[in-house]
Amino acid sequence: MKIAVPAEADTSEARVAATPETVKKFRGLGVTVAVEAGAGTGSDIPDPAFRDAGASVAKTLAGAVGDADVVLTVRRPSAEQVAAMKAGTVIAGQMDPFGDVAGLEAMAKAGLTVFSLELMPRITRAQTMDVLSSQSNLAGYKAVIDAAATYGRAMPMMMTAAGTVAPAKVFIMGAGVAGLQAIATARRLGAIVTATDVRPAAKEQVASLGAKFIAVEDDEFREAETAGGYAKEMSAEYREKQRALVAEHVTSQDIIITTALIPGRPAPELISRAMVESMKPGSVIVDLAVERGGNCAVSRPGKVVRHKGVTVIGHLNVAGRLAADASSLYARNVFNFFQPLIDGETGALKIDFDDEIVAGTLIARDGALVHPMLKTGDKP
Ligand code: NAD
Repeated sequence: MKIAVPAEADTSEARVAATPETVKKFRGLGVTVAVEAGAGTGSDIPDPAFRDAGASVAKTLAGAVGDADVVLTVRRPSAEQVAAMKAGTVIAGQMDPFGDVAGLEAMAKAGLTVFSLELMPRITRAQTMDVLSSQSNLAGYKAVIDAAATYGRAMPMMMTAAGTVAPAKVFIMGAGVAGLQAIATARRLGAIVTATDVRPAAKEQVASLGAKFIAVEDDEFREAETAGGYAKEMSAEYREKQRALVAEHVTSQDIIITTALIPGRPAPELISRAMVESMKPGSVIVDLAVERGGNCAVSRPGKVVRHKGVTVIGHLNVAGRLAADASSLYARNVFNFFQPLIDGETGALKIDFDDEIVAGTLIARDGALVHPMLKTGDKP
């Protein structure tokens, strides 16, 4: 069996779907690995490092993926990449399963068996395969580092001979994987941290990291978590109560990190333009939800906006800004996903399509889109 790792089609994507560590592990399972030249450059992995781990390095895309049984990517492949693969190839990556359905259909029509790793079920057995968690964790950390680098004041309290420097007040909105890491990072830097979420489970997690939890805790809040562990879209009535609470709180905050997402839907707007304008000059907002429409009315995808003295950071692909670590964790997630699908004796693919993890992530097979959510429009 041959696994191929192409260079990402989008040249702004610095991550790569395999590392020398995971190449060695695949080789240990009796699998051949081909990496397209330059695939690891953005993650500081030179071609010889892949070669030393036992991979072959192909000069061209076709040379890498043309006869591959399995292709590993970070993001959805381009049309050119799909055209270079043979029918029957199994491909796994972050396929953006709710975006550009025509592109997904084209992959299905090309005869690819497609796994979308963002759809990984949130069950204990799949935790080591959870790409959203591994990448969000790094994004949460980097968001605080980006904010601290832009903020014109110090994060911790400092008592000096010249007087006291006040600690920064940091507000984290959305206390999932990214938000919890943002809380931990801001606390390590010495900030005073508050956080909010709509899921009751977040309350205890926020408190355990030493931050204060602020939220509208009504009946709707008590039922806001789906069976999949995600947030539901909240009612207009709840959003209004939340808006009033947040509007009052943000005026006293120096840094806000927003991370709130609802699977398959646009991100909820939590910070209005008026709220941004109510903040002190020099305040910083980092909108981690900017790719999905944004939590802040002022943020722009890929831009750093200065609005009435407040800096609003909307970097895209924030995990990719820590590409070496992001690739390392992502590649392990991908290896952990494939290991049970490879026959230990023959090194051949042996996929149990009834398995919960396989069925949960499989989006295309035998020429058609097969995931129930793509058929019914339901979300996790
Ligand atoms: P996410 O990225 O979908 O959303 C980020 C956060 O935004 C969530 O906590 C969500 O509740 C919150 N949010 C949504 N709408 C909001 C609103 N209007 N106002 C404020 N906050 C809002 O979520 P995530 O980070 O991927 O994880 C969600 C949960 O799943 C977490 O509790 C996490 O610990 C859990 N999880 C479980 C597993 C597992 O069991 N295998 C794996 C990963 C994550």
